[in-house]
Amino acid sequence: MAFKLDKSAKAFAEAKQYIPGGVNSPVRSFRGVGGTPPFIAKAAGSRIYDIDGNSYIDYVGSWGPMILGHAHPEVVGELKEALERGTSYGAPTLLETELARLISEAVPSMELVRCVNSGTEATMSVLRLARAYTKRGKIVKFAGCYHGHHDSLLVKAGSGATTLGVPDSPGVPESIAGNTLTAEYNDIKGLTELFAQHGEDIAAVIIEPVPGNMGLVLPRSGYLDQVRGLTERYGALLIFDEVMSGFRVAYGGAQEVYNITPDLTCLGKVIGGGLPVGAYGGRRDIMELIAPAGPVYQAGTLSGNPLAMTAGIATLRLLVENPDFYEKVTTMTAALCAGMQAQAEAFGFNFQFHQAGSMFGLFFSDRPVYDYDSARHSDVAAFNVFFHAMLEQGIYLAPSQFEAAFMSGAHTHADIGATIAASGNAFAKVAK
Ligand code: PLP
Repeated sequence: MAFKLDKSAKAFAEAKQYIPGGVNSPVRSFRGVGGTPPFIAKAAGSRIYDIDGNSYIDYVGSWGPMILGHAHPEVVGELKEALERGTSYGAPTLLETELARLISEAVPSMELVRCVNSGTEATMSVLRLARAYTKRGKIVKFAGCYHGHHDSLLVKAGSGATTLGVPDSPGVPESIAGNTLTAEYNDIKGLTELFAQHGEDIAAVIIEPVPGNMGLVLPRSGYLDQVRGLTERYGALLIFDEVMSGFRVAYGGAQEVYNITPDLTCLGKVIGGGLPVGAYGGRRDIMELIAPAGPVYQAGTLSGNPLAMTAGIATLRLLVENPDFYEKVTTMTAALCAGMQAQAEAFGFNFQFHQAGSMFGLFFSDRPVYDYDSARHSDVAAFNVFFHAMLEQGIYLAPSQFEAAFMSGAHTHADIGATIAASGNAFAKVAK
């Protein structure tokens, strides 16, 4: 049966009458790759299903949260019970302490944890805290790292911004962007020079330790240690944005893998089990500045929402109670990458495959990719042909060269075999 998206096309046209660009987050519009985004009706396990009746093996996983796969029966069961007890109270619950405890046990640098509603809120709040603690104004971020869409960090922000070609959004006041210094990822010399110039004014360095928003890029050996060393030398705080890598590259995140202790950490995605959650946390003496323990204001009507806490707790419990989980999902991801790499090589392509646990990415590039500039060297047109050829065969990848892909615990060997086979056909199409 020919691949059709007629109902989705109609739904997309209608959505555009009521929603800017027809979507509530830009990359969902397929603007980077062209064509019609499938409108999704339901999801289960490793698959998502659209309103035209197509089903896909899903490697987007809602952009990272669905590490157990979609609609995991135990998570859904807990949520159903929680729903009966009411959806929000605006008062403390046992659930919030339980999620904070699970996070703190997994990520020991997070001695105190504050829950918010998104990754964006977490990074926004953590900057205020860092500035209050250090009494300094400037923040360093890295080109191609995305930390959400608040003004201070929407500077050289990779990902959706790269896809749309607007790394710096209109509407971000220069006075705010001016306090954000940018460095190149993996370039310790550049960062050292930045500190030599502005060191006394830098409140914090915020970094995706394993960047997943310019495609998946890996830190060079020793790089994160050097970043830690520099921040310490200048009395600046080190903030790991582990919204994507947290509970994803390992249970304890990238800081466990690379054995680095940041001062503050931001989380999101997996810790909400598919419901809207973010969190930030870190050293007790810093976190105790947060209201009401201290004077730095930060609040939220729905923060610590009982449904979101329930989904997060159920997800983290399933992960921690299954000690083989990360090893298994990492092995499956490696098998998929190796299989696709072999298909690519059979067509004479020179691809860059990167993997970090259950995250992976492929760059249509003949050069090593280690920062934003080298990522942007990729052949976007070739990626777009590949992407659509995969979609038509029922494989759902992120609709952009500059996004990571995610494996879940629900993906099967059959899924991987089907994906590798499909990639052979897709590479053949690109080669034409
Ligand atoms: N930080 C990182 C590393 C992210 O990947 C994202 C989202 O993709 C964010 C922050 C923002 O999170 P949210 O979309 O929940 O606001």
